[in-house]
Amino acid sequence: MDQFSLKDRVALVTGGNGGIGLGIAKGLAQAGANIAVVGRNADKNRAAVAELQAMGVKSCAIEADVADEAACRKAITDGAEQLGRLDILVNNAGISSSQRPEDTSVEFFRQVIETNLTSVFVACQAALPLMKAAGGGKIINLGSLYSNFAAAYTAPYGSSKGAVVQLTKSLAIAWARFNIQVNALLPGWIETDMTHDVRGNLAGFDAAVVARTPARRWGRPEDFHGPAVFLASAASDFVTGATLLVDGGYSVTG
Ligand code: NDP
Repeated sequence: MDQFSLKDRVALVTGGNGGIGLGIAKGLAQAGANIAVVGRNADKNRAAVAELQAMGVKSCAIEADVADEAACRKAITDGAEQLGRLDILVNNAGISSSQRPEDTSVEFFRQVIETNLTSVFVACQAALPLMKAAGGGKIINLGSLYSNFAAAYTAPYGSSKGAVVQLTKSLAIAWARFNIQVNALLPGWIETDMTHDVRGNLAGFDAAVVARTPARRWGRPEDFHGPAVFLASAASDFVTGATLLVDGGYSVTG
């Protein structure tokens, strides 16, 4: 269906070298988009670009730490320059937290906020003139179940992800006039490096997630192909400021 085609579009995916970000990048590439990935790890960047190029699209990587404001801004402009334009920005890079609040340093709290939240604001600011030049754009921010829920160890992470949803809504209102739609994907429990340790080492956790999830399994990066293409394509032109749960039904069970 043409509405879902991303042919000749350029997407930049932060944290696009692995996990959910690479899943999103591959989905967008399947729909025809050329892809810039941003990540800190040069080897992972190279491997992701090779996979995306093998799918027949143009791809490049920018090695950058999105928590560094100047580096984050430059990554966005460099990606657009290397691939010729910017139509789609996916703010996916993120880190988690696993300590109780009383054991969390202010330094780490700031690191989580700067990586998961401030970088989204900075990247969106950097993308605005590029999207205006392209006649509009699509921004997809990654929230979490912890945008809505909380746990004892999620003080920094949940604070950042709750705020990502509010930032998404605010940008959606502000930039509707530029034909830019801003939405958020809220993943449930997904098999990636981020969840590898809790899945393997926290007794009973794996089974508890499966038991609560109506889909009866963990999510996988490829579960993001469809939702990302929808929010990146003309199919979602009247959808903005929205959050889309991709959690196999986890959050609607009592
Ligand atoms: P992974 O740990 O597998 O991947 C994280 C990605 O972010 C990597 O590509 C990493 O690249 C990049 N990244 C992290 N910090 C930075 C930084 N400072 N600068 C640039 N890139 C960075 O995580 P997931 O794929 O699981 O998570 C992706 C997003 O989805 C995150 O925002 C996460 O919070 C969210 N999410 C994940 C869930 C899950 O169950 N997995 C559930 C809910 C939300 P590099 O190592 O090269 O820096």
